[in-house]
Amino acid sequence: MILRIALPVPLDRLFDYLPIDDRACVGARVQVRFGQRQLIGLIAEIAHESDYPTNKLKPIEATLDPQPLVDEELMQLGAWAANYYQYPVGDALLHLVPNLARKEERPEPTPTPLYRLAPDADIEAISKRAVKQRALFHYLQNDNSGVDSSQLREAGYEKRILDALVELQVVERFIAAPGTANPVIELAQPHLALNDEQQLAVEQINLSNNYHCSLLAGVTGSGKTEVYLQAIEPHLLAGKQILILVPEIGLTPQLVARFSSRFRAPLVTLHSGMSDRARYEAWERARSGEARIIIGTRSSIFVPLKHPGLILIDEEHDTSLKQQEGFRYHARDLALVRGQNLNIPVVLGSATPALESLLNAQLQRYQLLQLTKRAGEAHPPRFELIDTRNQTIEAGLTDEALRQMGSHLSAGNQVLVFINRRGFSPSLVCQGCGEAVHCTRCDAHMTLHRRPPRLHCHHCDRQTPIPLQCNQCDGTELRPNGSGTERIEERLQQLFNQVPVKRVDRDSTHSRQAFDQLMTEVGSGEPQILVGTQMLAKGHHFPDVTLVVILNLDAGLLSADFRAMERTSQLMLQVAGRAGRASKPGKVLIQTQHPQHPVLATLLEQGYLAYAQQELRSRESLSLPPYTYQAIVRAEAQRQGWAEAYLMRLRQLLDQAGAEQAGLLLAGPFPANMEKRAGMFRAYLVITATRRSALQHLLRQARKWIEQDPDAPRVRLSIDVDPIDAQ
Ligand code: ADP
Ligand code: ZN
Repeated sequence: MILRIALPVPLDRLFDYLPIDDRACVGARVQVRFGQRQLIGLIAEIAHESDYPTNKLKPIEATLDPQPLVDEELMQLGAWAANYYQYPVGDALLHLVPNLARKEERPEPTPTPLYRLAPDADIEAISKRAVKQRALFHYLQNDNSGVDSSQLREAGYEKRILDALVELQVVERFIAAPGTANPVIELAQPHLALNDEQQLAVEQINLSNNYHCSLLAGVTGSGKTEVYLQAIEPHLLAGKQILILVPEIGLTPQLVARFSSRFRAPLVTLHSGMSDRARYEAWERARSGEARIIIGTRSSIFVPLKHPGLILIDEEHDTSLKQQEGFRYHARDLALVRGQNLNIPVVLGSATPALESLLNAQLQRYQLLQLTKRAGEAHPPRFELIDTRNQTIEAGLTDEALRQMGSHLSAGNQVLVFINRRGFSPSLVCQGCGEAVHCTRCDAHMTLHRRPPRLHCHHCDRQTPIPLQCNQCDGTELRPNGSGTERIEERLQQLFNQVPVKRVDRDSTHSRQAFDQLMTEVGSGEPQILVGTQMLAKGHHFPDVTLVVILNLDAGLLSADFRAMERTSQLMLQVAGRAGRASKPGKVLIQTQHPQHPVLATLLEQGYLAYAQQELRSRESLSLPPYTYQAIVRAEAQRQGWAEAYLMRLRQLLDQAGAEQAGLLLAGPFPANMEKRAGMFRAYLVITATRRSALQHLLRQARKWIEQDPDAPRVRLSIDVDPIDAQ
């Protein structure tokens, strides 16, 4: 017997070892010696022969799992993804194992303490004014199986509220014996009465429990979440698990709260902000079948499910679902593969679906379900374009925008200002010679920040003190040029000193707590101004925001990247969708130098789907994705020219291998737009194909060649299948 082991090394193969006992099984971890190192690997296959003489093979050092840690279904998905995304198989398969179990031999799950009402609990023991404590009492009232503190936090009850009830002896803390947790799954909150479109969507999703994919295209505020809640209900009540992928969990506390307050069912979240230990425990709870609702970011597509029921991808157009380095998988696309393998339904939801998904709907691979109206009392926002040509603009804002902001604020409402640029100013320019301060490691300007004061390169993260002198001409007058969130925040606070101005970007809201705090403050309904980046765009429900001001999306309208327009449209409508989501009507102001741009007209007058139809037609006529399939080979090296020269040789080789005859189009190599980044010079080659199989075949040949090439170590190469960037 030969064990073929997946190891975390960048070589695209499995490694043969001999077993030490008869406990070996596929999906179990083993410890092996690899060169000088001791590694934890995963048994990927059990074979009967090896390409190497058996007497040269080493035995493994230890079996770490008597039973498979990763089941066959996931091993298959991992192998499929490694092959499809042209990524080393060992490394890909190890993505199926949580970090902690890649490092530790036996991560024993620590039993989670659970909470329930004490047998003689009396609500009168709680002060009448402690509204949240009383709410928690009611929340716990119908369930004596116990909930854990993270689930309560997701439902909006912070630990201190829980602790207060424990202190009062109203709530008791206990540890469930392992394996005995047999949660009662039930509805904790009544349904909303669905409108006709929502009703139809729920019915269609639940037509069958077998694989079929529904694309729920619902305008912002149309009640997609209510559709999700009602569609998953029968699966949950039947004891099945629901896997929900979201773009960034820290940004969607409201979504998580809506799931946890609707259902009394164990819910776990998984995201990169968690410790390895916390992730491992959530993973184990999904694997054991105990967790019924699993909400996570893209890597959660690899979470094991004992009783899979349905997979749901919220904001399916969001680019963060695709991993942008290393193993470049797309979690949405893997969700479809997984849904088919498991034969369970998949639901994709978005107000602005990806063109790929809309084409799949046209080709009847997905059923398109539309929600065209806002739910409840809400109406769609009104749009107004502000032409910024020939206008004096101070700190990014026109007088007209400021005037309208003033009137919304004095009417007691909230205003959201969107700008896709953090920091104080995107560059610091010498008034003597006109030069901006550059990053020494990138072909880019340094961004000026004031809080704390520094220059910061957003591409390589280099930070320096703010210089007092220009290093070109020694001039001493350096001025900020252009505006980012910090500058707009500062300006608005001067102009509107009666209301708080809150900045929401990666600098101000790095922690989950900071973001939660902000959401609570916005939830108070008090007039305030929110200034932020796309962190503000993602699915939030801000009932008191009546005015959204969008600054400077023009770059996206003019970009040479053929996907830029799609992204810009999505972003614009997502941000706009934060206005007027409740009973108050909403308005959206767009400041632009291109008010006549035809795409703006289509988007604002006819909506996203009409725009998407036009865009699809144009992609088809240009033979661009999603009508063709692409891969990008990227290279980077320490010297200028190396990466390009390398890709040139690769291209010649692929030409000789008959790329053209196979219907493949090679373009490049080109130097990257920002050729130097973090000290490396970058270039890329684009391969476009009309058939996926031809593309895959060619990429495999390219990898073989690269692996054997003696020059390869001088350049760092990566292959990106179905890239989401033009370069
Ligand atoms: P989306 O996710 O599509 O942007 P949401 O699910 O956040 O929209 O819904 C927007 C608002 O409409 C929420 O406050 C939600 O409670 C409410 N809503 C959804 N469906 C209904 C319905 N059928 N009746 C009344 N209100 C609804
Ligand atoms: Zn830099």
